[in-house]
Amino acid sequence: MSCYCNSSLPYSQCCEPYLKGQKFAERPQILMRSRYTAYCLKDAKYIHDTYAQAKQAQNSVDDIATFANYAHFIKLEVLEEAVEATQGIVEFKAHYIAENTHYILHERSNFITEAGRWYYLDGELYDTPTTKVGRNDLCPCGSDKKYKKCHGS
Ligand SMILES: [Zn+2]
Ligand SMILES: [Zn+2]
Repeated sequence: MSCYCNSSLPYSQCCEPYLKGQKFAERPQILMRSRYTAYCLKDAKYIHDTYAQAKQAQNSVDDIATFANYAHFIKLEVLEEAVEATQGIVEFKAHYIAENTHYILHERSNFITEAGRWYYLDGELYDTPTTKVGRNDLCPCGSDKKYKKCHGS
C-alpha cells in the first residue's frame, strides 16, 4: 500500500517512522506530509506535538481529534516547498470529505525549527470551492471510480 500522503513510497518507508517517533522530519515538506497522514489515521497527539511550542495550547488534542474524526482526508497535493535554514514554507491542497461534501484545504503553511526539529507554526488559507458529492459521481480522490464504490462506501 502506498502511503496516505500520496507519495509513491509504502507507508512503512514514508510517514510511519515519523508518526512512531523513530525519526524526526528532516524538512518542512516531510513534516507536512506526516501531519496529513496523522489526520488520515486520526493520530491527534502527533498533530498536536508537531505544532510549534507557542501554538500547542491553542490546539488541544481534543479539538484536533474532533476535526480528524469529522474530515475524511482523501488526497494530498504538495504544490511548493521553500526552505531557508530555520524556516520553511509549504503550499499544499489537502482534499477531504465531510457529510458528502468535498472540501479543499488549500494552505500556505509556515514551519520553523525549535531545538533543531521542524514544527508547524501557522498558515494562510486560500478560498476554495466546496462541492456536494453524489453517490454516482466520480470520487473526488481521482480514482476514476464512483464515489459510492470508493471513498463514499
Ligand atoms: Zn507519507
Ligand atoms: Zn475515492
